[in-house]
Amino acid sequence: MNARVRHNGLFIDGKEIEALSQSTFAVHSPADGQIVGYAALADHRDVERAVIAATNAFPRWNALTPAEREHCFLRAADLLEQASERFLPWIIDEGGSTITKATFEWKYSINLFRTAAGEVRRLYGDTFPADRNDRLSLVIREPMGVIAAISPFNAPLALLVKMIAFPLAAGNTVIAKPSEETPMIALELANLLQQAGFPDGVFNVVTGLGSEAGEALVSDPRVHGITFTGSTAVGRKIAATAGERLARVHLELGGKNPVIVLRDADPKEAARIIATGAFAHAGQICMSSSRIIAEKEIARELATCLAQEVEHFHLGDLRDERTVYGPVINERSSKTIQSHISTAVAAGAELVTGGEILHGLLWKPTVLFNPPKDSLAWSEETFGPVTCIHEVDDLEEAIQLANDSEYGLSAGILSNDLRRSISAARRIRCGSVHIGAHSFQSDALAPIGGYGVSSIGRSGGKYSVEHFTELKWITLNLEQQL
Ligand code: NAD
Repeated sequence: MNARVRHNGLFIDGKEIEALSQSTFAVHSPADGQIVGYAALADHRDVERAVIAATNAFPRWNALTPAEREHCFLRAADLLEQASERFLPWIIDEGGSTITKATFEWKYSINLFRTAAGEVRRLYGDTFPADRNDRLSLVIREPMGVIAAISPFNAPLALLVKMIAFPLAAGNTVIAKPSEETPMIALELANLLQQAGFPDGVFNVVTGLGSEAGEALVSDPRVHGITFTGSTAVGRKIAATAGERLARVHLELGGKNPVIVLRDADPKEAARIIATGAFAHAGQICMSSSRIIAEKEIARELATCLAQEVEHFHLGDLRDERTVYGPVINERSSKTIQSHISTAVAAGAELVTGGEILHGLLWKPTVLFNPPKDSLAWSEETFGPVTCIHEVDDLEEAIQLANDSEYGLSAGILSNDLRRSISAARRIRCGSVHIGAHSFQSDALAPIGGYGVSSIGRSGGKYSVEHFTELKWITLNLEQQL
């Protein structure tokens, strides 16, 4: 057996323990197919144990003062800052990330913990002038209880931290169910939070399948809220199950993100920006720039410049800082990419560059020109290093095309014409619009989320805190003697 292969248990009530079934599942590196670890395979009985631990920890967590809770987050940030060698290898080995993307995730996660520390002291309430003069009205913000955080594979550290840090800062306890593709790093995080002083049971991890551990969490009535980041298809299922018992959900789902390129933009510079937005992490980012909509005066030259830009991509060792991106996560994903490209080309799209596998799960950067609007490559998430360019007559048509999607996560506008750009930004039905940039942007305090089937709710800073707290109205009768 490979010396680096580790066996992880579940993390419940401050301890690493085996699954009750004693089963594990193998975790593979997408780069070479090697087994990099074994994770405990939780079933509904393990979820039950985690729910009990998180429920019991809730009063303990809330008995701490804000200063004590804030200290846990600041300490977690400091510990994480010193622990790159514990985290980066997992992001690379189980997630297929490059060292550059892994480093970005790690730094972003440190930032998230520090931002969450600030939120601990901002759980403001309210008062208001009551209708009756004999009443004093108070509005206080309270944590909900136990929150389940079900995370995807593509940013296994940063998204997990984002999904847990703000609900925890609001005083909730959390059970995380990481993706079965990337479960190993979650145990590393649990150990770090333990070291940082989070009390036992405040943060728990159950690794396993979505269909077993995930569903058990979503349907448990003692889980008060669910934060889910993943595909729209799974998000729909979770919303339906949670809806049955009226549990609060926060869903961060897929995107098919437009970047509008106006005729005044420099095609070379626009291509350079799009190359990052479309191909970072092999396009496996919810906000990837996958629908480029360009005015006809610039569209053709933009396609040529983008092909030239990606021609020089270094696609080598994941630990080499020059490597732009690595393999896609698994065979299923590779097949989706294959079928999106081949059906678009068969339906009339021009293959500007790419369209082939280099080796294993590593795809060449692919650019399609004018794919039919009903092709899957244009309308559905490809979640691979593929982007499409569509030419349009004018800005009006560009906005219509941008909005002709059931998704509405993030958009970019490349132009120096601020007046046209701002007017377009106001009319694009996406949760964020970035002028002078591609669609893949993040910020710990920003309200991340979208229109349509891209999300329910917003996450980040106070927006997550608001989502995972209850408001309580308390009145005081100032005159009645009892
Ligand atoms: P996925 O939906 O396949 O899986 C996500 C998680 O859901 C995993 O932990 C999985 O085990 C779990 N799951 C699966 N079935 C379940 C069920 N029935 N009940 C409960 N849990 C279940 O997503 P993925 O392939 O890991 O990630 C890629 C997707 O995530 C893409 O669609 C991408 O756009 C989306 N994503 C969105 C954002 C965002 O912020 N909007 C960010 C990252 C990724």
